[in-house]
Amino acid sequence: MGVEDVFSLVMHLPIRYIDETVVTPIGEIQMGVLSQIEAEVIRAEIVYKPKKMLVVQVKDASGSLQLRFLHFYPNQMKMFEVGSRIRVLGEARHNLFAFEMIHPQCKLIREGDTLPQSLTPIYSLVAGVGQKIVKDAIDKLFNNFDLKNYLKDLFLPSVYEKLRLPNLYESLKSIHHPKDFKEVSSHEAFTSKAYQRIIFDEFLAQQLSLRSNYLIRRALTAIPFKAKNKLTQIFTDRLEFDLTKAQNKVIQEIKNDLEKNHPMQRLLQGDVGSGKTVVATIAALQVIENGSQVAFMAPTEILAEQHYRKISQWLTPLDIKVAWLTGSQSKKERESALNMTASGEAQIVVGTHALFQEQVTFKKLGLNIIDEQHRFGVEQRLALRKKGELDQVIEPHQLMMSATPIPRTLSMSYFADLDVSVIDELPKGREAIVTKLFSEDRRDEILKRVHEVCHAGAQVYWVCPLIEESEALQLQTAEETYLNMQSHFKDLKVGLVHGRMKSLEKQKVMSDFGKGTIQLLVATTVIEVGVDVPNATLMVIENAERMGLSQLHQLRGRVGRGSLKSTCILLFQKKLSEVARQRLKVIFENTDGFIIAQEDLNIRGPGEFLGVRQSGVPMLRIANLNRDFKLLEEAKTIADQLLENYPEASHLHLKRWLSHANERVKV
Ligand code: ADP
Ligand code: MG
Repeated sequence: MGVEDVFSLVMHLPIRYIDETVVTPIGEIQMGVLSQIEAEVIRAEIVYKPKKMLVVQVKDASGSLQLRFLHFYPNQMKMFEVGSRIRVLGEARHNLFAFEMIHPQCKLIREGDTLPQSLTPIYSLVAGVGQKIVKDAIDKLFNNFDLKNYLKDLFLPSVYEKLRLPNLYESLKSIHHPKDFKEVSSHEAFTSKAYQRIIFDEFLAQQLSLRSNYLIRRALTAIPFKAKNKLTQIFTDRLEFDLTKAQNKVIQEIKNDLEKNHPMQRLLQGDVGSGKTVVATIAALQVIENGSQVAFMAPTEILAEQHYRKISQWLTPLDIKVAWLTGSQSKKERESALNMTASGEAQIVVGTHALFQEQVTFKKLGLNIIDEQHRFGVEQRLALRKKGELDQVIEPHQLMMSATPIPRTLSMSYFADLDVSVIDELPKGREAIVTKLFSEDRRDEILKRVHEVCHAGAQVYWVCPLIEESEALQLQTAEETYLNMQSHFKDLKVGLVHGRMKSLEKQKVMSDFGKGTIQLLVATTVIEVGVDVPNATLMVIENAERMGLSQLHQLRGRVGRGSLKSTCILLFQKKLSEVARQRLKVIFENTDGFIIAQEDLNIRGPGEFLGVRQSGVPMLRIANLNRDFKLLEEAKTIADQLLENYPEASHLHLKRWLSHANERVKV
């Protein structure tokens, strides 16, 4: 049950409550309402019609009632000896022949037994651990153990005064043993002061954990890179476009970070197409013009190669040496790239996770840029960070990028260990993407549309369904679609790209599509991240109902990247589940990634956004980001102060809350 010590036991909170504090006379029982009676057994017998069961007749001064058990044990019979007094809890109803309770909870009344003073909590259980075991264990904490001392406040009362929160002991007492249903209903709505206190404490633990990691890393040493504005100036002057206001704002934030002598730990967020690559490149230039190296890493080969091409195209004219490292290179190419990296000749090295590998050494690594950070694990990011350790004390700066916009509530909580920059506007001149919903039976219309688009000189993505259960099936579907398209469009050049292709083949297809020699690209969802072909103006997504919101948003972002009007057609199967319908509605109605992300968070909870990060961050069990947002803000406000002024108490609070889940974010 996840119960390992006193704290996790007392934090095993009731899922609901029942009322055993009052006894209802049999004559006053209401139908279908859980009631407790006290009565005397007048008869008990096992009958065999229609099947074996135990039937017990009881009475009190106001009436009589039948109890019926379809499953029972021989030793249960003892309780039902004629003349015994029992306490019975259940819902009564009339059947054809009798007024009865089926499978009520029964208890023999002994001399001196009194009714409980508070409502009875009901706990979640696992096989083999019954209600009584859990309840008794928790009751023991309150009765036979100095729980008050164990749960004593760690911080000064002033921390809780502003919110007028009760102490933890009182809070938990009220949650486990509420006096009445009024108290219960505020617990059930999570609005009671008791729950507020617990939620606040949980948020506080999360904030303390993430912020202390932030501060630890902030205390490390990094090389400061003064903005000389030489290379960066030449670069921006040469760019074929003007940077947006939002890009300039985040560039300034990054610039300031790089000038510090402690490592930057910044997350750059921006919707698909907001122009993060150019921002990262400018950051790289600031490091390069100070004589250090930059590692630029992407999660897939396609994306890494695309970055490599773009960055080479941008930086080679500035006499900057760009190297390229992936798993699929020939031995010779790889050797040469490794040598250039080790000698420092390569000023920027672009690659996939091949950059993590041990053979890769940098002469002087000053900055790690990690694209689509949520696709990388903590361990991988840690491995890359180590590359910068010249003499164990110098850390490289770190810039992480994410195209999955993270709702504010999430970035305030789970990402509290990072500084966050947001590019909140798209470059001008982008035509909005038109999204259309088509049901499966209108396929022919769509095929006609594909034809028209290609003949007008533009290009099309055709995204095959995501088949989570079977990669083989997914591959087969993609190949079949490809063959069908080829025979349907005899006059079009059709290509296929999927995750199982050799990386060289994949690169060839992508670069042909980039050059326009492929007009219609059939693809699995591998094209989801980052691919940039401005001439592609139509995307068809099959079985869109199976995909998640952020995935759909990412996919759709592959079109509308040039100045041409683009369309995204979502094909769906007619039978839609409620969640699928909801998702399609959101994606149809919205183009703003932040709004879509917020909806996604509402529908699915935070898991999706955290990706591999999840494993490294203390999860919230009771607190809910949307519902309890105000408490999150409060916890966030004071976390840094507490860490600074009361490190001991902060540490104890963390220990209390995270002793099991204490996997902290390392990177
Ligand atoms: P993302 O943020 O999704 O990674 P990219 O960096 O791939 O976006 O940029 C998308 C496209 O927009 C690229 O072709 C890029 O060169 C272009 N771009 C970036 N910034 C601007 C800008 N300020 N004005 C016009 N185009 C831009
Ligand atoms: Mg990108």
